[in-house]
Formats: sequence, structure tokens, C-alpha cells
Amino acid sequence: MSVFDHPEFDHHEAVHFFDDPASGLKAIIALHSTALGPAAGGCRFWQYDVSADALTDVLRLSRGMTYKNAVAGLPFGGGKAVILKDSASTKSPELMRAFGRAVDSLSGQYVTAEDVGMSVDDMRIVQGETRHVSGLPQSGSAAGGDPSPWTALGVYLGIQAAVRARLGRDTVEGLKVAVQGVGHVGFHLCKLLHEAGAELLVADVSRENLRKLTGAVPVTEVSPREILFADVDVLSPCALGNVLDSQTIPRLKASVIAGAANNQLSVESDGDQLVERNILYAPDYVINAGGIISVAREYFEQGSEDEVRADVNRIPERLDDIFRKSADTGRATNRIADDIARRIVAAGRPDTRQIA
Ligand code: NAD
Repeated sequence: MSVFDHPEFDHHEAVHFFDDPASGLKAIIALHSTALGPAAGGCRFWQYDVSADALTDVLRLSRGMTYKNAVAGLPFGGGKAVILKDSASTKSPELMRAFGRAVDSLSGQYVTAEDVGMSVDDMRIVQGETRHVSGLPQSGSAAGGDPSPWTALGVYLGIQAAVRARLGRDTVEGLKVAVQGVGHVGFHLCKLLHEAGAELLVADVSRENLRKLTGAVPVTEVSPREILFADVDVLSPCALGNVLDSQTIPRLKASVIAGAANNQLSVESDGDQLVERNILYAPDYVINAGGIISVAREYFEQGSEDEVRADVNRIPERLDDIFRKSADTGRATNRIADDIARRIVAAGRPDTRQIA
């Protein structure tokens, strides 16, 4: 399949393939758009069945970053990286350094940070090779560090907004919430939900991550195959994408879907199916922008943790607007969010690099 004819290509500005036999690095960096600033988005370290799946993933994720950064008011375009993990490969410093050199070769057109399978420690190694990296340990009260607690905070606030809109309730107290995936984001999200009085059902394929959570928060474990269909008020997908499709949507019991995972809908029209089922869907890239908000303030050296918190606190108002428009028009929330994002991108780069 030609890259240009790929169904997810969507006029990417550039797609770079890296193969470094010495370190074992095989990576793709996709730059969807630099219309609003350098293309920014995390790096995913993941084992794909075939390399074509990695290409599909990176293309979808990088377009999502264009939309996410636009709607969040950030002076960033959209991009993403994937490192193809093979069954034998573990993450090594050599691999991370090779990835850092790959990022650096793009001269700042792409800014990387953590995504699934990557950590703050990895970013420190990447930093040895390039300055176009964020999500690094912070000093003092400056913005920075692991973005996932900020993503979790935004998702938590977004769940509250969705619960208000769909269930007419101001808190999650007493509500049942199913969380799929309790890794970096899911762990922090579960803590926030528990503190607010929600009852948690969780699933993960990693025993280690489940153990870490159950040591911190009371939860009921559900099998990974059943978590999507749990009898709950809110479903929060926080693992991988493509969980909502024509097979799964008819079986959902939650009336609100609000989680961190990127690309939760398999195809755009899945959003219409959710409307038909009267399930309120918080568009993934709107609700999960907390991490990139922190990354942006860190990268541009603009501000403190308090400013990141203030920015993340604005996620619910963006969702409120989308939910209202959806209620008024009957259009799916994902389509409304995409319209807003495309309008912002079409308007072009702001005059300054100030974060809105
Ligand atoms: P992570 O790798 O730390 O956690 C993902 C968790 O999901 C892991 O514990 C993994 O074992 C689990 N998982 C994988 N497949 C599963 C399955 N089929 N069923 C149940 N659990 C499964 O990643 P993360 O950083 O917490 O990110 C989670 C999601 O949120 C990803 O889709 C990521 O792209 C998205 N996201 C993350 C951030 C961030 O700040 N880290 C920001 C925006 C979006």
C-alpha cells in the first residue's frame, strides 16, 4: 500500500521512517501539521503485529495531535512517533539515544514526549541527543515532568462535566465508573475518582499495574474482555484506541464515555451510533489534553505548575460547549470537536507563541 493512499494519510506534511541497525531502532515519526507551530506529540513504544499497523497508528495519532493541540489553544501543530518494539527487544539507552538523534534530525519540526510505553527516564536519555523533547523532570514549581497526572486531572474534570451534562449530577460520588487500563493515567485517575467517592471497576492486562493500584485504592477487578460492558454509569477507556466500534457499542451499558485513550472511536461514524444509543461521548482529544498542556508550558518555558493547573481546569468548559452543541443539533460530539479543530487550524498560526 502506498503511504499517500493510506486511508489515514489525511495530507500529512511528512512521514519519516528511521532504521538504525546498530541500536535496533525502527521508528516512524509522522508530522500531520505544522500550521500552528512545531508538530508535537508523544512517542509510543509498542509491539505491532505488522509494521503496517504501526503506520496506521502513528498516522491516526498524529492527526489527533493536530486537533488536540488546536482545541487546547496551544502553539503546537500535530505529530507523533512510534518505536516498533519486537518481541526480543527491550528498551535500551542506545535505542533511546538513537530515537533522540532521529528527533533531532528534524530540526525542531517535531517535539517529542512520553506516550504509552515511555517514561520520564527515557525522555532524559532522549534529551542527551536533542533539545526538542519535553516531559522532563521539573525543577521547583516550573511546568514539566511526567504529563500523565495532568492528563488524569483533565479526564477527571471532564468526567465531572459529562456527568453533569448527561446525569444532571454535580459530583461522581456514589457513581460506578469502569476504568480500562490502569497505567500512568489510569492510576492517577482512579485515585481522583476514589477520593471523590466513586465506586471503581478496573481492568488491565498487566498484573503489575493492577497490583500497584489495588495497593493504593479499593477497586473491583473485572476481566479485560468484560470491562467495556460493565453495568456502570461511566466508562473511562484509558488503555489503547479502537475500543468503540460497531461490535462493542451495542453492548455498552454506561451512559457516559470519558477517558484518556487516544482514538477511542474506530471510525468517525461510531460517534453517530453513540448518539443513537443516547450515550454521551467526551471526544478523546479534548478531554485528554492535560498532558500536552503541561508539555507545552515546559517546552516553551512559559509558566508554572499553577498555570498548567489553570489551563487544565479549562477542559470542562470546552467539553460543555461541545455537549451543548451536540444537544442542540443532534450531531455527534466527535464531529463537533473535529469541526472546531479544523476551523482553528484553517485560521493558521497565531502571531505569538503565547499559550492561550
Ligand atoms: P500506559 O502504558 O502507562 O497505560 C496503559 C495501560 O493499559 C497499561 O497498564 C496496559 O497494561 C493497559 N492495557 C493495554 N491493553 C489493555 C487491554 N486490552 N485491557 C486492559 N488494559 C490494557 O499508558 P498511559 O500513559 O496511561 O496512557 C493511556 C492512554 O491514554 C493511551 O491511549 C495514551 O495514548 C493516552 N494518553 C496518555 C497521555 C499521557 O499523559 N500519558 C496523554 C493523552 C493520552
